[in-house]
Amino acid sequence: MNPSDANSAANKVLPVKNTDVAIVGAGPAGLTFALCLAKSGLNITIIDQQPLKNIAEPTLDGRDIAMNHLSKCVLEELNVWQRFPEDEVHPLKEAKVIDGNSSYALHFERSDDPIAPLGYLVANHQIRDALYQQVCEHGNIELLTETSVENVHTNAADGVVETTSNAGKQTIRASLVAAADSRFSVVRRMMGISAKMKDYGRVMMVCNMDHELSHQNTAQECFQYGRTCAILPLGPNRSSIVITTPSSRSGELSAMDDEAFAREAESMLGNRLGKMKLVTERFSYPLVGAMSNRFIGQRFALIGDAAVGMHPVTAHGYNLGVRSADTLATQIIKAKQAGKDIGSQWVLGNYEVRHKILSKPIYDGTNVVVQLFTDDNPVAKLARKAALRFGNNFRPFKKLVTQRLIQER
Ligand SMILES: Cc1cc2nc3c(=O)[nH]c(=O)nc-3n(C[C@H](O)[C@H](O)[C@H](O)COP(=O)(O)OP(=O)(O)OC[C@H]3O[C@@H](n4cnc5c(N)ncnc54)[C@H](O)[C@@H]3O)c2cc1C
Repeated sequence: MNPSDANSAANKVLPVKNTDVAIVGAGPAGLTFALCLAKSGLNITIIDQQPLKNIAEPTLDGRDIAMNHLSKCVLEELNVWQRFPEDEVHPLKEAKVIDGNSSYALHFERSDDPIAPLGYLVANHQIRDALYQQVCEHGNIELLTETSVENVHTNAADGVVETTSNAGKQTIRASLVAAADSRFSVVRRMMGISAKMKDYGRVMMVCNMDHELSHQNTAQECFQYGRTCAILPLGPNRSSIVITTPSSRSGELSAMDDEAFAREAESMLGNRLGKMKLVTERFSYPLVGAMSNRFIGQRFALIGDAAVGMHPVTAHGYNLGVRSADTLATQIIKAKQAGKDIGSQWVLGNYEVRHKILSKPIYDGTNVVVQLFTDDNPVAKLARKAALRFGNNFRPFKKLVTQRLIQER
């Protein structure tokens, strides 16, 4: 096709598409939500600006996602968990939080069943791959790729998404529009919903490393002065290493060659894992949090990071995304079974209340932890030593954190 043909195709106006639910964003949250709804028989249209290849064949992005038992349970019901290669699911037996070079650690383990895992680690690209493969199994889910959203507006009768792709301009009408278009959600803004954004001024670098000593299937978060380094246990003698540094200093780590970086990681971890070797690329993510002031509008809902974009330190982001997808889909399916409007205020209000009660304390609590453990003034240092001791000795606190991880449906 020559450029003028492409131009005229893009200006073509396609027939209006009617669907039940339009989802903007085919990331982990958008795909999970589509699958949660699939069994209802509703027609679902997912819209993403990326080319199909990026969604159908996701590549390694360095993120290893710690999933709780509830996410596992939901993904099993969706036949997604079963698609993970067995040797790519890594159980997390224990977790420790360590302050500076102290040997003292806040320790989380399962007192109810010491053999059972606290959670599981699966690489993000494996999750995205399994979600996409499962979406392809459902004839009532349509995926429009390389399609950008120009406008979203809703009224009492329906939600309207105006899109542009190489095929032309199109209007999509739905009973409900859901936005899963990331923490920087453009659709949220189009719908006039504000969000509190929090720039942490830090960058998170992630990579996989092999090491001499065993990680003992224990996640470790070591808060150093000025930066933090976490170990997420993968296969035997392999871990995901997660380093958080002030944005102004992140260039130093990126500029190191693989050897120098490995020595730096050994020293940051106080040689806990012995000699280390980089086995993947290093990936960097600037850290910005987002909490939407509303999760809903008329015939409209925010899910995933578009509703709550977490700091990754407490590993809740995708877990909350699964929870938002599951909660909203449950309300929609209930309404459909009762012959009611799936985009009604009743459906959306029930979703918002439930998801806000769950996610707001997690978001605020995580920000307190981030503040306490990244502030290096002497008072903060003392406060975090006290916090670790309090956490270890105050059993209700440990029980609450552990139960949140192992909670099933
Ligand atoms: C380093 C790191 C480690 C993490 N570790 C964990 C962990 O251990 N546990 C955990 O639970 N979570 C973790 N997370 C969080 C988790 O990765 C995110 O919560 C999750 O990826 C968010 O999924 P999402 O679908 O909401 O958004 P995204 O993954 O951002 O996807 C958004 C999608 O929307 C599309 N899109 C955007 N704008 C538009 C538009 N205008 N039109 C059409 N499409 C659009 C994009 O192309 C994309 O496909 C981590 C995150 C990071 C950065």
